[in-house]
Amino acid sequence: MSKRILITGGAGFIGSHLCERLIAEGNEVICLDNLHTGRKKNISHLLNNQGFEFLRHDITDPLKIEVDQIYNMACPASPVHYQSNPIKTIKTNVLGMMNMLGLAKRVNARILQASTSEVYGNPLEHPQNESYWGNVNTIGIRSCYDEGKRVAETLCFDYHRNHYVDIRVIRIFNTYGPKMLPNDGRVVSNFIVQALQGNDITIYGDGSQTRSFCYVDDLVDGIISMMEKDNFTGPVNLGNDGEFTVKELAEHVVRLTGTKSKIIYKDLPSDDPSRRKPDLTLAKKELNFQPKVKLEQGLAKAIEYFKQNLN
Ligand code: NAD
Ligand code: UDP
Ligand code: UDP
Repeated sequence: MSKRILITGGAGFIGSHLCERLIAEGNEVICLDNLHTGRKKNISHLLNNQGFEFLRHDITDPLKIEVDQIYNMACPASPVHYQSNPIKTIKTNVLGMMNMLGLAKRVNARILQASTSEVYGNPLEHPQNESYWGNVNTIGIRSCYDEGKRVAETLCFDYHRNHYVDIRVIRIFNTYGPKMLPNDGRVVSNFIVQALQGNDITIYGDGSQTRSFCYVDDLVDGIISMMEKDNFTGPVNLGNDGEFTVKELAEHVVRLTGTKSKIIYKDLPSDDPSRRKPDLTLAKKELNFQPKVKLEQGLAKAIEYFKQNLN
């Protein structure tokens, strides 16, 4: 049955893919965004659709609207952008979350929160399982995001316990793909754009730190399955459990683009997690979640996108 769905952060990278999918499935979609790290170009092709609406709004301000479901994706996700205005990042994660939970409570909507592997901080357990409480610095440069997202999870569970709000919490691991901004600042888009422009490829640190990279289509499958799943609040990890060093990622990008760019090394930012890989056991059990796109395939698709969209 068609639903009225609010997607906050809907003009961003993941949000715009969600808008596309939920419109294609015949829903009414309200895409809300303050256009901080998102852009109209990501959703402009949807504007002619009867069921699609764009709302320029900031979730730190209250919002009265009638919807069945809320996907709360609003928050800059790239360290460069979330650190550029850290207090705003905290407000988005805390005040914004509270407003969206207040809205969900008033209209009795189901609400899905886009949490993150960053709640595990620089993890002392590997791979990361949902029962691990994390290792997070409260006062570092990543704290506005990490602690903000941790409070957001706490708010979800308190609204669930105290007001019976129907919550879904997902912890997203590094995701990449088309519609990331060329200047997004995250590692996959940086390396691809540097390679395509013939600039140096910038590895921070010695490149031995690991991440597990998920192609956006696989993630969107998991997000929608979670929203539709009854009697399961999460938190649940979503991502791809193939683990690569940042150096390996750079080498893949060099090979797939055929670039002449050289790899250079820069200082590692503080609190940069050294290892990260999701334990997907719970996602498989509850959601039948299984990422399908291998890193090389996903990188090839992202490279094709950036070839056409370098600005
Ligand atoms: P993104 O930066 O491309 O998208 C975020 C969107 O939210 C942007 O369009 C931005 O303009 C909007 N936004 C930011 N603050 C807002 C506010 N106060 N009010 C309204 N809109 C606001 O990032 P993304 O990669 O698409 O991430 C989407 C969500 O998923 C974020 O909440 C992020 O924390 C989470 N997440 C993403 C990843 C990943 O690897 N992509 C990993 C973990 C978690
Ligand atoms: N809120 C909102 N839209 C709504 C309902 C609430 O933006 O439809 C905001 C409200 O302004 C408040 C927050 O959500 O700042 C939390 O709402 P709640 O009802 O939980 O708290 P209260 O208003 O009682 O402080
Ligand atoms: N990184 C890098 N070069 C870049 C951008 C990032 O080596 O141009 C590294 C970064 O230090 C981190 C990893 O790549 O170890 C992933 O960074 P990203 O900003 O994509 O996301 P994070 O997982 O750190 O939030």
